[in-house]
Amino acid sequence: MGVYEELGLKPIINASGAITRLGGAPMSPGVLDAFREAAAESVPLEQLQGAASKVIAQVTGAEAGLVTSGAAAALTLGAAAILTRYDLARMERLPQCEGFPNEFVVAREHRNGYDHAVRASGARLVEVGFHESAAGAGVRRAEAWEYEAAFGPHTAGVLYVLTNDSQPPLADVVRLAHAHHLPVLVDAAGELPPRANLTAIVASGADLVAFSGGKAIRGPQATGILCGRRELVGPAALQMLDMDERFELWQPPPELIDRSRLLGMPRHGIGRGFKVSKEQIVALVAALRMFARGDYDVELAGYRQQLATVSKALAGCAARCELKEGQSECLPILEIVVDQGALGRTAIEVCRDLRSGTPPCYVGHSALREGRLIINPLHLNDDRTAELARRLREELTPRK
Ligand SMILES: *Cc1c(COP(=O)(O)O)cnc(C)c1O
Repeated sequence: MGVYEELGLKPIINASGAITRLGGAPMSPGVLDAFREAAAESVPLEQLQGAASKVIAQVTGAEAGLVTSGAAAALTLGAAAILTRYDLARMERLPQCEGFPNEFVVAREHRNGYDHAVRASGARLVEVGFHESAAGAGVRRAEAWEYEAAFGPHTAGVLYVLTNDSQPPLADVVRLAHAHHLPVLVDAAGELPPRANLTAIVASGADLVAFSGGKAIRGPQATGILCGRRELVGPAALQMLDMDERFELWQPPPELIDRSRLLGMPRHGIGRGFKVSKEQIVALVAALRMFARGDYDVELAGYRQQLATVSKALAGCAARCELKEGQSECLPILEIVVDQGALGRTAIEVCRDLRSGTPPCYVGHSALREGRLIINPLHLNDDRTAELARRLREELTPRK
Protein backbone atom coordinates (compact mmCIF):
# COMPACT_ATOMS: atom_id res chain seq x y z
CA MET A 1 0.00 0.00 0.00
CA GLY A 2 1.29 3.48 -0.84
CA VAL A 3 1.67 6.30 1.68
CA TYR A 4 -1.49 8.02 0.45
CA GLU A 5 -3.63 4.84 0.41
CA GLU A 6 -2.44 4.12 3.93
CA LEU A 7 -3.94 7.49 4.90
CA GLY A 8 -7.15 6.67 3.10
CA LEU A 9 -6.47 8.90 0.06
CA LYS A 10 -6.46 7.98 -3.58
CA PRO A 11 -3.72 9.64 -5.70
CA ILE A 12 -5.22 11.64 -8.55
CA ILE A 13 -4.12 12.09 -12.13
CA ASN A 14 -2.92 15.66 -12.27
CA ALA A 15 -3.29 16.99 -15.80
CA SER A 16 -3.22 20.62 -14.60
CA GLY A 17 0.53 21.17 -14.19
CA ALA A 18 2.37 22.70 -11.24
CA ILE A 19 -0.78 23.71 -9.39
CA THR A 20 -0.27 24.63 -5.73
CA ARG A 21 -3.60 23.11 -4.66
CA LEU A 22 -2.58 19.79 -6.24
CA GLY A 23 0.90 19.65 -4.72
CA GLY A 24 3.05 21.66 -7.14
CA ALA A 25 5.53 20.27 -9.64
CA PRO A 26 7.15 16.80 -9.76
CA MET A 27 10.68 16.79 -8.33
CA SER A 28 13.28 15.06 -10.46
CA PRO A 29 15.23 12.08 -9.04
CA GLY A 30 18.34 14.27 -8.64
CA VAL A 31 16.39 16.76 -6.52
CA LEU A 32 14.89 13.98 -4.38
CA ASP A 33 18.39 12.50 -3.85
CA ALA A 34 19.62 15.90 -2.68
CA PHE A 35 16.64 16.19 -0.30
CA ARG A 36 17.29 12.75 1.21
CA GLU A 37 21.04 13.32 1.56
CA ALA A 38 20.48 16.71 3.21
CA ALA A 39 18.28 15.08 5.84
CA ALA A 40 21.12 12.82 7.00
CA GLU A 41 23.38 15.57 8.45
CA SER A 42 22.99 18.82 10.39
CA VAL A 43 24.31 22.25 9.39
CA PRO A 44 23.71 25.75 10.79
CA LEU A 45 20.80 27.07 8.75
CA GLU A 46 22.13 30.61 8.31
CA GLN A 47 25.36 29.14 6.89
CA LEU A 48 23.33 26.97 4.51
CA GLN A 49 21.30 30.02 3.45
CA GLY A 50 24.61 31.83 2.86
CA ALA A 51 25.75 29.04 0.55
CA ALA A 52 22.37 29.04 -1.23
CA SER A 53 22.70 32.81 -1.58
CA LYS A 54 25.92 32.35 -3.56
CA VAL A 55 24.26 29.92 -5.96
CA ILE A 56 21.20 32.15 -6.37
CA ALA A 57 23.48 35.12 -6.99
CA GLN A 58 25.39 33.17 -9.62
CA VAL A 59 22.24 32.05 -11.42
CA THR A 60 20.30 35.35 -11.25
CA GLY A 61 23.04 37.97 -11.28
CA ALA A 62 21.64 39.38 -8.03
CA GLU A 63 23.93 40.37 -5.15
CA ALA A 64 22.28 37.89 -2.79
CA GLY A 65 19.41 35.46 -2.49
CA LEU A 66 17.34 33.67 0.11
CA VAL A 67 15.43 30.41 -0.06
CA THR A 68 11.95 31.14 1.28
CA SER A 69 8.90 28.97 1.89
CA GLY A 70 7.36 30.14 -1.39
CA ALA A 71 7.03 33.25 -3.51
CA ALA A 72 4.24 34.51 -1.27
CA ALA A 73 6.56 34.27 1.75
CA ALA A 74 9.25 36.01 -0.31
CA LEU A 75 6.83 38.91 -0.88
CA THR A 76 6.08 39.26 2.85
CA LEU A 77 9.78 39.05 3.73
CA GLY A 78 10.78 41.41 0.93
CA ALA A 79 8.22 43.98 2.03
CA ALA A 80 9.32 43.55 5.66
CA ALA A 81 12.96 44.10 4.67
CA ILE A 82 12.06 47.31 2.84
CA LEU A 83 10.10 48.53 5.88
CA THR A 84 12.80 47.77 8.47
CA ARG A 85 16.21 47.54 6.76
CA TYR A 86 18.59 46.63 9.63
CA ASP A 87 16.56 48.51 12.29
CA LEU A 88 16.05 46.02 15.16
CA ALA A 89 13.23 47.97 16.79
CA ARG A 90 11.26 48.14 13.54
CA MET A 91 11.77 44.40 12.98
CA GLU A 92 10.40 43.75 16.44
CA ARG A 93 7.32 45.92 15.81
CA LEU A 94 6.10 44.54 12.47
CA PRO A 95 3.33 44.35 11.33
CA GLN A 96 2.92 47.53 13.40
CA CYS A 97 4.56 50.19 11.26
CA GLU A 98 3.15 53.51 12.31
CA GLY A 99 5.78 56.21 12.58
CA PHE A 100 7.92 55.17 9.65
CA PRO A 101 7.36 55.04 5.87
CA ASN A 102 5.04 52.08 5.22
CA GLU A 103 3.29 52.67 1.89
CA PHE A 104 3.90 50.66 -1.27
CA VAL A 105 2.75 52.26 -4.50
CA VAL A 106 1.14 49.76 -6.87
CA ALA A 107 -0.75 50.07 -10.15
CA ARG A 108 -4.42 49.25 -9.59
CA GLU A 109 -4.23 46.85 -12.53
CA HIS A 110 -1.40 44.94 -10.74
CA ARG A 111 -3.58 44.23 -7.70
CA ASN A 112 -4.29 40.52 -7.22
CA GLY A 113 -4.94 37.99 -4.46
CA TYR A 114 -1.24 37.45 -3.77
CA ASP A 115 -0.68 41.05 -2.66
CA HIS A 116 -2.16 39.97 0.68
CA ALA A 117 1.37 38.63 1.24
CA VAL A 118 2.79 42.17 0.94
CA ARG A 119 0.09 43.64 3.20
CA ALA A 120 0.80 40.91 5.78
CA SER A 121 4.12 42.65 6.53
CA GLY A 122 2.18 45.67 7.77
CA ALA A 123 2.68 47.64 4.54
CA ARG A 124 -0.20 49.65 3.15
CA LEU A 125 -0.85 49.59 -0.59
CA VAL A 126 -1.46 52.91 -2.35
CA GLU A 127 -3.07 52.36 -5.76
CA VAL A 128 -2.43 54.40 -8.88
CA GLY A 129 -4.02 54.23 -12.33
CA PHE A 130 -7.31 52.60 -13.20
CA HIS A 131 -8.66 49.38 -14.64
CA GLU A 132 -8.78 51.02 -18.03
CA SER A 133 -9.79 47.74 -19.69
CA ALA A 134 -13.26 48.41 -18.20
CA ALA A 135 -13.46 51.62 -20.25
CA GLY A 136 -13.08 49.59 -23.41
CA ALA A 137 -11.01 52.17 -25.27
CA GLY A 138 -8.05 49.82 -25.38
CA VAL A 139 -5.45 52.57 -25.36
CA ARG A 140 -4.81 53.52 -21.73
CA ARG A 141 -2.85 51.57 -19.12
CA ALA A 142 -1.14 52.52 -15.86
CA GLU A 143 1.55 55.09 -16.62
CA ALA A 144 4.89 55.74 -14.97
CA TRP A 145 4.11 59.36 -14.05
CA GLU A 146 1.24 58.15 -11.88
CA TYR A 147 3.68 56.32 -9.62
CA GLU A 148 5.84 59.40 -9.27
CA ALA A 149 2.83 61.57 -8.43
CA ALA A 150 1.96 59.19 -5.58
CA PHE A 151 5.44 59.20 -3.99
CA GLY A 152 5.54 61.08 -0.71
CA PRO A 153 7.02 61.06 2.80
CA HIS A 154 5.16 57.85 3.73
CA THR A 155 6.28 55.90 0.67
CA ALA A 156 8.49 52.91 1.49
CA GLY A 157 8.71 51.34 -1.95
CA VAL A 158 6.97 50.11 -5.07
CA LEU A 159 5.25 46.78 -5.66
CA TYR A 160 5.36 45.61 -9.27
CA VAL A 161 3.60 42.44 -10.46
CA LEU A 162 5.32 41.11 -13.54
CA THR A 163 3.46 39.30 -16.33
CA ASN A 164 4.29 39.20 -20.02
CA ASP A 165 1.76 42.02 -20.43
CA SER A 166 2.62 44.30 -17.45
CA GLN A 167 2.50 48.06 -17.97
CA PRO A 168 4.20 50.43 -17.55
CA PRO A 169 7.51 48.73 -18.36
CA LEU A 170 9.40 47.59 -15.24
CA ALA A 171 12.53 49.49 -16.30
CA ASP A 172 10.58 52.79 -16.40
CA VAL A 173 9.13 52.22 -12.93
CA VAL A 174 12.56 51.27 -11.56
CA ARG A 175 14.14 54.41 -13.01
CA LEU A 176 11.55 56.70 -11.43
CA ALA A 177 11.57 54.89 -8.09
CA HIS A 178 15.35 55.03 -7.88
CA ALA A 179 15.34 58.74 -8.68
CA HIS A 180 13.37 59.05 -5.42
CA HIS A 181 15.61 56.53 -3.58
CA LEU A 182 12.76 54.02 -3.37
CA PRO A 183 13.21 50.25 -3.83
CA VAL A 184 11.07 48.13 -6.17
CA LEU A 185 9.76 44.73 -5.07
CA VAL A 186 8.77 42.49 -8.00
CA ASP A 187 6.36 39.56 -7.85
CA ALA A 188 7.69 37.34 -10.63
CA ALA A 189 6.44 34.12 -9.02
CA GLY A 190 5.12 32.56 -12.19
CA GLU A 191 7.43 34.25 -14.72
CA LEU A 192 9.68 31.22 -15.24
CA PRO A 193 10.16 30.02 -17.92
CA PRO A 194 11.69 31.60 -19.95
CA ARG A 195 15.02 30.89 -18.27
CA ALA A 196 16.22 34.32 -19.42
CA ASN A 197 13.92 35.85 -16.77
CA LEU A 198 16.22 34.46 -14.06
CA THR A 199 18.64 37.25 -14.94
CA ALA A 200 16.55 39.74 -16.95
CA ILE A 201 14.34 40.90 -14.07
CA VAL A 202 17.26 41.54 -11.74
CA ALA A 203 19.11 43.21 -14.63
CA SER A 204 16.20 45.65 -15.03
CA GLY A 205 17.35 47.17 -11.73
CA ALA A 206 14.60 45.72 -9.53
CA ASP A 207 15.76 45.71 -5.90
CA LEU A 208 14.01 42.51 -4.82
CA VAL A 209 12.49 39.75 -6.96
CA ALA A 210 10.28 36.87 -5.79
CA PHE A 211 10.16 33.56 -7.70
CA SER A 212 8.28 30.35 -6.90
CA GLY A 213 10.47 27.31 -6.28
CA GLY A 214 7.65 24.81 -6.71
CA LYS A 215 6.51 25.81 -10.18
CA ALA A 216 8.83 25.61 -13.24
CA ILE A 217 12.00 25.26 -11.14
CA ARG A 218 10.49 22.03 -9.75
CA GLY A 219 11.97 22.34 -6.31
CA PRO A 220 10.03 21.30 -3.22
CA GLN A 221 6.52 22.76 -3.42
CA ALA A 222 6.92 24.93 -0.33
CA THR A 223 9.98 26.82 -1.55
CA GLY A 224 10.60 30.13 -3.26
CA ILE A 225 13.40 32.59 -3.88
CA LEU A 226 13.88 36.19 -2.83
CA CYS A 227 16.85 37.71 -4.61
CA GLY A 228 18.22 41.18 -5.13
CA ARG A 229 20.28 43.75 -3.26
CA ARG A 230 22.25 42.37 -0.30
CA GLU A 231 21.24 45.44 1.71
CA LEU A 232 17.62 44.15 1.59
CA VAL A 233 18.03 40.37 1.32
CA GLY A 234 19.97 40.45 4.63
CA PRO A 235 17.12 41.98 6.66
CA ALA A 236 14.69 39.58 4.93
CA ALA A 237 16.82 36.63 6.10
CA LEU A 238 16.99 38.00 9.65
CA GLN A 239 13.21 38.21 9.83
CA MET A 240 12.79 34.56 8.80
CA LEU A 241 15.67 32.74 10.52
CA ASP A 242 15.50 31.49 14.10
CA MET A 243 17.25 34.04 16.32
CA ASP A 244 17.78 32.16 19.60
CA GLU A 245 21.54 32.62 19.60
CA ARG A 246 24.10 34.57 21.63
CA PHE A 247 25.21 37.68 19.79
CA GLU A 248 28.84 37.12 20.94
CA LEU A 249 28.85 33.67 19.34
CA TRP A 250 26.84 34.45 16.21
CA GLN A 251 28.79 34.62 12.95
CA PRO A 252 26.25 34.93 10.14
CA PRO A 253 27.55 34.49 6.56
CA PRO A 254 28.72 37.93 5.35
CA GLU A 255 27.51 37.27 1.81
CA LEU A 256 23.98 37.30 3.20
CA ILE A 257 23.89 39.25 6.46
CA ASP A 258 25.93 42.34 7.40
CA ARG A 259 26.49 41.73 11.11
CA SER A 260 28.22 45.10 11.52
CA ARG A 261 24.87 46.83 10.93
CA LEU A 262 23.28 45.23 14.00
CA LEU A 263 23.39 46.55 17.56
CA GLY A 264 22.46 43.14 18.90
CA MET A 265 20.53 40.00 18.13
CA PRO A 266 17.16 40.59 16.45
CA ARG A 267 14.14 38.91 18.02
CA HIS A 268 12.25 36.30 16.01
CA GLY A 269 10.87 38.27 13.08
CA ILE A 270 7.57 38.46 11.26
CA GLY A 271 8.72 35.66 8.93
CA ARG A 272 9.62 33.17 11.67
CA GLY A 273 6.56 31.16 10.66
CA PHE A 274 7.95 30.82 7.13
CA LYS A 275 10.94 28.71 8.15
CA VAL A 276 12.57 26.55 5.50
CA SER A 277 14.22 23.22 6.29
CA LYS A 278 17.76 22.22 5.34
CA GLU A 279 16.32 19.56 3.04
CA GLN A 280 14.17 22.14 1.24
CA ILE A 281 17.10 24.53 0.83
CA VAL A 282 19.43 21.86 -0.58
CA ALA A 283 16.73 20.46 -2.89
CA LEU A 284 15.74 23.92 -4.16
CA VAL A 285 19.38 24.70 -4.96
CA ALA A 286 19.67 21.39 -6.86
CA ALA A 287 16.46 22.11 -8.78
CA LEU A 288 17.49 25.69 -9.55
CA ARG A 289 20.76 24.47 -11.04
CA MET A 290 18.91 21.94 -13.19
CA PHE A 291 16.36 24.50 -14.36
CA ALA A 292 19.05 27.09 -15.15
CA ARG A 293 21.07 24.54 -17.17
CA GLY A 294 18.00 23.55 -19.19
CA ASP A 295 18.11 19.95 -17.92
CA TYR A 296 14.33 19.60 -18.09
CA ASP A 297 14.30 20.22 -21.86
CA VAL A 298 15.11 16.57 -22.60
CA GLU A 299 11.59 15.69 -21.39
CA LEU A 300 9.84 17.82 -24.02
CA ALA A 301 9.58 15.11 -26.68
CA GLY A 302 8.01 12.76 -24.13
CA TYR A 303 5.42 15.38 -23.15
CA ARG A 304 4.45 15.88 -26.79
CA GLN A 305 4.04 12.12 -27.08
CA GLN A 306 1.68 11.98 -24.07
CA LEU A 307 -0.48 14.75 -25.52
CA ALA A 308 -0.57 13.05 -28.92
CA THR A 309 -1.74 9.84 -27.23
CA VAL A 310 -4.62 11.67 -25.53
CA SER A 311 -5.53 13.44 -28.75
CA LYS A 312 -5.60 10.20 -30.73
CA ALA A 313 -7.74 8.47 -28.11
CA LEU A 314 -10.44 11.11 -28.49
CA ALA A 315 -11.01 10.54 -32.21
CA GLY A 316 -14.74 10.22 -32.82
CA CYS A 317 -15.67 11.82 -29.46
CA ALA A 318 -17.81 14.93 -29.06
CA ALA A 319 -14.69 17.08 -28.88
CA ARG A 320 -11.93 18.55 -30.99
CA CYS A 321 -8.28 18.61 -29.88
CA GLU A 322 -5.86 21.47 -30.46
CA LEU A 323 -2.19 21.03 -29.59
CA LYS A 324 -0.70 24.35 -28.49
CA GLU A 325 3.07 24.62 -28.63
CA GLY A 326 4.34 26.43 -25.54
CA GLN A 327 5.57 29.99 -26.01
CA SER A 328 8.76 31.16 -24.25
CA GLU A 329 9.90 27.65 -23.28
CA CYS A 330 6.54 26.76 -21.68
CA LEU A 331 5.35 23.18 -22.02
CA PRO A 332 3.03 22.31 -24.90
CA ILE A 333 -0.60 21.81 -23.84
CA LEU A 334 -3.59 20.11 -25.36
CA GLU A 335 -6.85 22.04 -25.51
CA ILE A 336 -9.94 19.85 -25.77
CA VAL A 337 -12.84 21.85 -27.20
CA VAL A 338 -15.98 20.13 -25.94
CA ASP A 339 -18.88 19.97 -28.41
CA GLN A 340 -21.40 20.74 -25.68
CA GLY A 341 -24.36 20.46 -28.08
CA ALA A 342 -23.45 16.99 -29.34
CA LEU A 343 -22.46 15.80 -25.87
CA GLY A 344 -25.47 17.25 -24.09
CA ARG A 345 -23.25 18.36 -21.19
CA THR A 346 -21.13 21.41 -20.47
CA ALA A 347 -17.35 21.42 -20.07
CA ILE A 348 -17.76 22.22 -16.39
CA GLU A 349 -19.94 19.13 -15.91
CA VAL A 350 -17.33 17.02 -17.70
CA CYS A 351 -14.62 18.52 -15.48
CA ARG A 352 -16.64 17.70 -12.35
CA ASP A 353 -17.27 14.09 -13.49
CA LEU A 354 -13.58 13.61 -14.32
CA ARG A 355 -12.71 14.63 -10.77
CA SER A 356 -15.25 12.32 -9.13
CA GLY A 357 -14.43 9.30 -11.33
CA THR A 358 -11.85 6.54 -10.83
CA PRO A 359 -9.07 7.47 -10.83
CA PRO A 360 -9.91 11.12 -10.13
CA CYS A 361 -8.61 13.22 -13.05
CA TYR A 362 -7.92 16.94 -12.63
CA VAL A 363 -7.68 18.80 -15.94
CA GLY A 364 -6.87 22.49 -16.37
CA HIS A 365 -9.99 24.55 -15.63
CA SER A 366 -9.03 28.05 -16.80
CA ALA A 367 -11.03 27.96 -20.06
CA LEU A 368 -14.15 26.00 -19.03
CA ARG A 369 -16.40 28.94 -19.86
CA GLU A 370 -15.22 28.71 -23.46
CA GLY A 371 -15.96 24.98 -23.35
CA ARG A 372 -12.29 23.98 -23.22
CA LEU A 373 -10.53 21.44 -21.02
CA ILE A 374 -6.78 21.95 -20.82
CA ILE A 375 -4.30 19.09 -20.51
CA ASN A 376 -0.90 20.02 -19.09
CA PRO A 377 1.53 17.09 -19.46
CA LEU A 378 3.93 17.96 -16.59
CA HIS A 379 2.77 15.10 -14.34
CA LEU A 380 1.91 12.60 -17.10
CA ASN A 381 3.71 9.33 -17.77
CA ASP A 382 2.63 6.39 -19.93
CA ASP A 383 0.41 4.81 -17.25
CA ARG A 384 -1.31 8.02 -16.23
CA THR A 385 -1.80 9.06 -19.84
CA ALA A 386 -3.51 5.76 -20.63
CA GLU A 387 -5.87 6.16 -17.65
CA LEU A 388 -6.55 9.81 -18.44
CA ALA A 389 -7.26 9.05 -22.11
CA ARG A 390 -9.68 6.28 -21.11
CA ARG A 391 -11.55 8.54 -18.68
CA LEU A 392 -11.71 11.41 -21.18
CA ARG A 393 -13.07 9.04 -23.82
CA GLU A 394 -15.78 7.84 -21.45
CA GLU A 395 -16.82 11.37 -20.50
CA LEU A 396 -16.69 12.77 -24.03
CA THR A 397 -18.68 10.01 -25.71
CA PRO A 398 -22.35 11.06 -26.00
CA ARG A 399 -24.53 8.94 -23.68
CA LYS A 400 -27.38 7.19 -25.41
C1 LIG B 1 2.13 31.26 -7.69
C2 LIG B 1 2.16 32.74 -7.47
C3 LIG B 1 2.47 33.27 -6.20
C4 LIG B 1 2.70 32.39 -4.99
O1 LIG B 1 3.79 31.56 -5.14
P1 LIG B 1 4.08 30.43 -4.04
O2 LIG B 1 5.45 29.94 -4.40
O3 LIG B 1 3.01 29.38 -4.20
O4 LIG B 1 4.03 31.06 -2.71
C5 LIG B 1 2.53 34.65 -6.07
N1 LIG B 1 2.30 35.48 -7.11
C6 LIG B 1 1.99 35.00 -8.34
C7 LIG B 1 1.74 35.97 -9.45
C8 LIG B 1 1.90 33.61 -8.56
O5 LIG B 1 1.62 33.14 -9.78
